[in-house]
Amino acid sequence: MNKEIQNQSFWSYDEQTIFEQLETTKKGLTEDESTARQKIFGPNLLPEEKNVYWKILLRQFTSPLIFILLFAGLVTFILKEFGDTIIIALTIVVNAGLGFYQENKAETAIRHLKSYLEQRTRVIRNGQEIEISVEEIVPGDVIKIISGTRIAADSRILSCVNLTIDESMLTGESLPIEKNKEILPTTTSLTNRTNCLYAGSLVTQGNGLAVVTAIGSQTELGKIAFLLDKGTETSTPLQKSISYLAWILTVVILIIVILIFVIGLWRGEPTLNMFLTTVAIAVGAIPEGLPITLTVVLSVGVERLAKKKAIVRKLVAAETLGSTTLILTDKTGTLTKAKMSLAHIISLKNLLTNSIPKERLSSKPLTKEEKEIISLALVNCDVTPTNGKEKQRNGTFFSGKPLEVSLASEAHKRGFDIFSFKEPLSAAIVSPFNSQNKYSAYLITNPSLGLDFLPWGDSAAFLVYFGAPEVLIENSFLAEEEKKIITQRVEEFAKQGERVLAVAYKPLKKDQLKNDWLNQKLNNLNLAGLISFYDPPRPDVKKTLHQIEKLGIKIVIATGDHPGTAIALAKEIGLKVKESQMIEGNSLRSLGDNELMNIIDSIKIFARVTPEDKLRITTIYQKKKEVIAMTGDGINDAPAIKKADIGISLGSGTDVAKGTADMILLDDNLSTIVRAIEEGRKIISNIQKTLVYLLSDTLDEIFLIGGSIIIGLPLPITAAQILWVNFFSDSLPAVAFAFENQPIESPNHKHQHLLFDKRVKFLVLIIGLLTSSALFGFYIILMNLGHPPAIVKTFIFASFGLYTLFLVFPLKSLSRPIFKLKPFDNYLMILGVILGLIMMGIAIYLPLANDLLKTTPLPLNWLGLVGLLCLFNLAIAELSKTLIQKLKTKKPTSPLINLSQRNWGKI
Ligand code: ADP
Ligand code: MG
Repeated sequence: MNKEIQNQSFWSYDEQTIFEQLETTKKGLTEDESTARQKIFGPNLLPEEKNVYWKILLRQFTSPLIFILLFAGLVTFILKEFGDTIIIALTIVVNAGLGFYQENKAETAIRHLKSYLEQRTRVIRNGQEIEISVEEIVPGDVIKIISGTRIAADSRILSCVNLTIDESMLTGESLPIEKNKEILPTTTSLTNRTNCLYAGSLVTQGNGLAVVTAIGSQTELGKIAFLLDKGTETSTPLQKSISYLAWILTVVILIIVILIFVIGLWRGEPTLNMFLTTVAIAVGAIPEGLPITLTVVLSVGVERLAKKKAIVRKLVAAETLGSTTLILTDKTGTLTKAKMSLAHIISLKNLLTNSIPKERLSSKPLTKEEKEIISLALVNCDVTPTNGKEKQRNGTFFSGKPLEVSLASEAHKRGFDIFSFKEPLSAAIVSPFNSQNKYSAYLITNPSLGLDFLPWGDSAAFLVYFGAPEVLIENSFLAEEEKKIITQRVEEFAKQGERVLAVAYKPLKKDQLKNDWLNQKLNNLNLAGLISFYDPPRPDVKKTLHQIEKLGIKIVIATGDHPGTAIALAKEIGLKVKESQMIEGNSLRSLGDNELMNIIDSIKIFARVTPEDKLRITTIYQKKKEVIAMTGDGINDAPAIKKADIGISLGSGTDVAKGTADMILLDDNLSTIVRAIEEGRKIISNIQKTLVYLLSDTLDEIFLIGGSIIIGLPLPITAAQILWVNFFSDSLPAVAFAFENQPIESPNHKHQHLLFDKRVKFLVLIIGLLTSSALFGFYIILMNLGHPPAIVKTFIFASFGLYTLFLVFPLKSLSRPIFKLKPFDNYLMILGVILGLIMMGIAIYLPLANDLLKTTPLPLNWLGLVGLLCLFNLAIAELSKTLIQKLKTKKPTSPLINLSQRNWGKI
């Protein structure tokens, strides 16, 4: 066996040749054989592009600012001002190093996300169906094709029913392609090989069995993986607006700097001195690092979310999350545990005679009738036993759709061998469950598999149906009167919070089996009975609803389930819903868009809705300017997931839904959405903090230097000093804001471009103006008092540098006073501050640095004065925060904003 066997024209082989070539059988490989092959072929993984360090490093030298610095460095070198050359060289190194660190950090964080999403697939090994990680697949494995999943490796179809595949990620062709097992000519081109399946494509419908022909980099996807990877992530709106902001600021600062330069020359300052000073101001003031800082904030947030079991697949989602105003959630699994226990099994006869036990089924043995109904339901369970790891993960022995897993576990507890009803290797699922049809259908042809109780007579086969009772009752043989009675029973169970399903069957004659069993209409069903489940609410749901309310976000339930069950659950979790606040899919579809617009604000539950309804609901909400987070798990949910501002797929959902989702909830839990929204708000507020921090000290430099030149005082700080302060203030502390983890506080605004909102502008201006006036005022007074200029200048330098550094503390929150925060909880920030202090100490007290930076050691009393001035400036920052907080809470605009503001007050 060697790797070459993967490169054959399998589409032109018959089944026997395929098995011979791949040295496998219909029963799949043995465990030993598959282990041996894993050693030969390696894991089934796509080749991955590593972070290319030198490329990231090179990118750091492409900014105009670096060019200016290089030029300035060259000038000082030629003029033999080596002190300045050294400082400029250091600036270049620090700037590039920091940019490198940030970009690398952002890329690595995004890369790590993939490892959270383990893909699993079902294979036949040793004649047994098991679930394994896709990495473990080898050529020759027989895999099961299931609707809604992603194909794990290139393979050749052995058998299939109704199979259609979406190959758009490979071919760009968005229409699903029908597949079958017919042999094709050797010359058939890649896109026409209808009997082949390709890794990465999605099963939109149907099911089947296939044998793996190529894995990993040998797959068609693997061959183009590098091409696909590029350019998938475009800039988010925030990133665009930040880049724009940075650009505008650059232009404005350049103009100011040139003005300062010209006025300086006119005032008679030496040209070189003025040139270096203006370059230094530009370097210090232009927020060239802003766009990448934003990316770091976003990706650190995304990483933090992943640890909380919310995998954000697109950076844009991370920033939109914070402005979510409405959550449209489904019920099963998100609000409930999805661990359903059997509540009732009632045969048709008992339904009609109304002999229904009040109490739920305990673990007492089932009657013969109950056993028959449950075995029909089990036929429809597409579950597979799982290995130990999987069991640990969800506490069950089986994997599959939540309802089917619950049914299988409940039956297993009662002594059923659930795999005895169907032949494992025949794909007899006619129609797997989907949330559109709301039922599943299986074909059974063999009475000896424990289904001899069915009225076989001269029937060759049975179609067995399992699903929503209305659908099956409606299409059954029953008389209208009987339908009514049974529907009544269904209501009763639903009112008790039970999820009711019906079981029905339909006999097929021999000739039907040959011709048209696949296209059987849903009619003439024999109803066997009802099975109901009790799905308890998740224990934390009540608390979560409370948090959602506190965040000022609306929550609406959209479920495929029965209205009664939905209302019962709502009651149980403490959500007050009146009858009039619930609407059913049927009524919903009879409303026009305008009518729906009018009533939608009052609706709290949408019941018996289809994915199409969800799409429409989402669209209407968006017209009403809600920022909507929507959950979905089915194949048909994909359009609505795409449409929602935040499309959320459940971890237990289909790969199709996950493929389009912005975010995946690994634990299916509503509280995870809430944590994600909180994190989103944190992201926005951390970006705002960085903005205020970086921009407010920009004004200082302009003010100090520009002011001094205008009123004819000597320049208080030198170019080298500005660059020196820039080393430690614009670097680590600024980056550290990405890791701030203060409780959320940002407002619940509907539009993300409000990032640079009034509060941020106000704080930048007020803090910038007041603190620089204070510094400048001190400078004028101290100079006029006749203190030695060298000391006064060093004093200004020290105050400027240290105050900038300490500003990180008040800015840990833009609304709450510093004494209500934990000031020292951010290690990176503390490290940044300590480094800053050390560098400042060096600058003032190390003789070598005194020469380089033209400073003088400060006497102790002057140092005390520095401390005082810093404190004074910090007080200004604190006061500005309080002031804007007061201004903001004064004029509430809408009830929603009102609510969120009340909460800011609290935090
Ligand atoms: P929810 O919105 O609560 O998650 P679903 O869309 O999953 O509801 O299910 C809608 C209805 O479809 C259920 O009430 C049930 O009647 C039926 N159903 C759900 N899962 C299955 C299944 N695996 N097989 C058959 N019918 C199902
Ligand atoms: Mg569901």
